[in-house]
Amino acid sequence: MIQAILRRCKKCGRYTLRKDRCPYCGGEVENPHPPKYSPDDRYFIYRMCMKILSGQLPVPDDIKNKVVEKFLLAKQQTSEQQVETVETSQQ
Ligand SMILES: [Zn+2]
Repeated sequence: MIQAILRRCKKCGRYTLRKDRCPYCGGEVENPHPPKYSPDDRYFIYRMCMKILSGQLPVPDDIKNKVVEKFLLAKQQTSEQQVETVETSQQ
């Protein structure tokens, strides 16, 4: 994942691969996008569904239906695994 290695400088806002300091200005670097999506992330489908249903993500109706289907399926499958997933993704 590219997000896992990219850092952004807090001072000048440039992106770098360095993890300690900005190579341009020496400023502190931070992870610009904490990884939110992973193939194991069962909440991804929830967020996707919310975006689509709220109109933030315009998609054709057939895709919308598929996502809603997956959402319902995921809902059934995750009831017991949710706690574990949340703990792992917050580390
Ligand atoms: Zn910098």
